[in-house]
Amino acid sequence: MRVLQAILQFLYEVLLGCRHGRLTRPFTIEQQTYKVCLDCGKQIYYSANTMRPLNGGELRRMRAAQAGEVKILPGTAEVGALRSESQSKAIA
Ligand SMILES: [Zn+2]
Repeated sequence: MRVLQAILQFLYEVLLGCRHGRLTRPFTIEQQTYKVCLDCGKQIYYSANTMRPLNGGELRRMRAAQAGEVKILPGTAEVGALRSESQSKAIA
């Protein structure tokens, strides 16, 4: 029985984000719109255009785009940005 419950919960989370019902309002950060579950902190992504949860295909596209962005970012530029940030803090 427990196994079945776990499987159902897993499917539910895969399909609908999570099994909880208490969500924040949707908000947009860095061009991504999502609600956050108040119980488990899971992010449920929304389409900013339709204001509906992303379906599987849209989620995959978004993840792929994110992965692409990460790859495009040169690691050295990121380190340099962090350094200059800490330097400006030190000066201030
Ligand atoms: Zn949740």
